[in-house]
Amino acid sequence: MTDRYDVIIVGSGAGGGTLAHTLAPSGKKILLLERGDFLPRELENWDATAVFVDGRYISPDTWYDAGGKAFQPQVHYYVGGATKMYGAALYRLRPADFGEIKYSDGISPAWPLDYADLEPYYTRAEWLYQVHGNHGEDPTEGPYSKQYPWPPVSHEPRMQQLSDDLATAGYNPFHAPCGILLDEDHRAASACIRCAWVDGFPCLVHAKCDAEVIAVRPLLGLPNVTLLVGAEVTALRTDPAGRSVTEVVISRAGQRESYSADIVVLAAGAANTAKILLRSVSGKHPAGLANGSDQVGRNYMFHNSKAVAALAKEPNDTVYQKTLGLNDFYLADESRPPLGNIQLLGKSSAGAMRGEEPKLTKLAPNWSLEEVAKHSVDIWLTTEDLPRPENRVTVDGDASIHLTYQFSNHAETEGLYRELKTLLNKTGMAAHHVLSKNFYADMSVPLAGVAHQAGTARFGSDPATSVADGTCKAHELDNLYLADASIFPSIGAVNPALTVMANAIRVGDHIAARLR
Ligand SMILES: Cc1cc2nc3c(=O)[nH]c(=O)nc-3n(C[C@H](O)[C@H](O)[C@H](O)COP(=O)(O)OP(=O)(O)OC[C@H]3O[C@@H](n4cnc5c(N)ncnc54)[C@H](O)[C@@H]3O)c2cc1C
Repeated sequence: MTDRYDVIIVGSGAGGGTLAHTLAPSGKKILLLERGDFLPRELENWDATAVFVDGRYISPDTWYDAGGKAFQPQVHYYVGGATKMYGAALYRLRPADFGEIKYSDGISPAWPLDYADLEPYYTRAEWLYQVHGNHGEDPTEGPYSKQYPWPPVSHEPRMQQLSDDLATAGYNPFHAPCGILLDEDHRAASACIRCAWVDGFPCLVHAKCDAEVIAVRPLLGLPNVTLLVGAEVTALRTDPAGRSVTEVVISRAGQRESYSADIVVLAAGAANTAKILLRSVSGKHPAGLANGSDQVGRNYMFHNSKAVAALAKEPNDTVYQKTLGLNDFYLADESRPPLGNIQLLGKSSAGAMRGEEPKLTKLAPNWSLEEVAKHSVDIWLTTEDLPRPENRVTVDGDASIHLTYQFSNHAETEGLYRELKTLLNKTGMAAHHVLSKNFYADMSVPLAGVAHQAGTARFGSDPATSVADGTCKAHELDNLYLADASIFPSIGAVNPALTVMANAIRVGDHIAARLR
């Protein structure tokens, strides 16, 4: 294998995989480095006990919290990255998210670009990732240049009833955007059997539009693209001036190897991108690469989220529950700041509940959990958290990640929960039937934090307060780009993956033009 490429991309998830897919038609020689392997396709993919209780697909890694306590982060080092396990809810940020937003705990800063700048790339990402939805239903969404490639996934009867009840009560429910390979008009031609195994499960039949299935697999066999799995990037080295990355150092099967390229792109996920930069210390970059501003690792975000099981008298036999969303409290009004997004989660099961709440469910017999699952409507509340400099990733001498994080915007989270309870009261699910499922309450750093990790190397116009410029090129380097969730200056209150994908396409176009 040659060790000189036009472009090296580190990480094959939402950012790296999408970027490789964007650049591949240019014919340029691309090396995609992925520390994990392909996620095995096996019956356990759809086994709640294997996935949630045994943690079969959680990659071994030990991180430390602010007090130095070790914990196992919910990371998935595979081809496709976190998208192998994601719920494929593929939302755009709202136009307001690109500007400054005032919260009770402070300011969510503006992006260096507007919604209008990213809109064409959102459209391309929606078409690449085969998103089902209906632009125009959600009054908070921004303008769109093209409708989704697929109609929305139809509601099953219980979800349709909930949607009708919400509309009758004066709310604006919409069909949630879902990335699945489903053709409801031609079932025989559809890969998706429309199952409950979406959130937190890999898809055995490859019908979830994740970065492996959509972006990376189609590149395998192309003469100009090489994928190297089991290849963990440990550091980047520069020329003596410290302006160009000249060597990408990896550890593969216990051996050190190195590769070089005209352009290097980091897309290892927010925490690991920061880790690679912080470990790449040199005389010219004593605090780590691209870190003259001391911003690398800082401003870590992950959403202030709450999962709720709302219980109703009538059974909920929905299989694919993630078809409904509600943004009525997303934007500020005269009386309150923005509260966030409400969406339906994958359907509860006894196995999933045991994995999520091991202590609480330890003594519960299976039948009781199954009874709860049978009547529950599972809901996910998301409030934006703020990029605070003290919320940060650091790396110790053993190359282990330390994560310091304090939640922000509690008032808004509680406000959203209050609105949910009011709304459930109006739709036949009494407030006292609402169970707050505080996921991972016993962990000092909650799992959800790792799932929606963002920030740590934000882009912006001012090199004193950001790591990369508007094109996502590191301010201090001529040939280093970032193309994952690390670049987020703020995270909004919708799921982040579509924004990562759209931005990766934007960065891909820029790099392709530069290489031409
Ligand atoms: C359970 C779960 C559910 C989720 N649900 C949703 C959802 O419904 N909608 C949504 O929008 N988002 C969802 N997310 C979040 C979404 O998956 C992430 O926001 C998105 O994947 C982030 O993209 P990324 O490119 O930054 O990182 P990733 O997609 O994680 O990609 C990073 C890649 O880099 C690799 N890597 C890491 N370190 C190295 C290294 N040193 N060398 C080489 N390779 C490396 C990793 O193995 C990985 O493949 C979910 C996440 C999880 C875990």
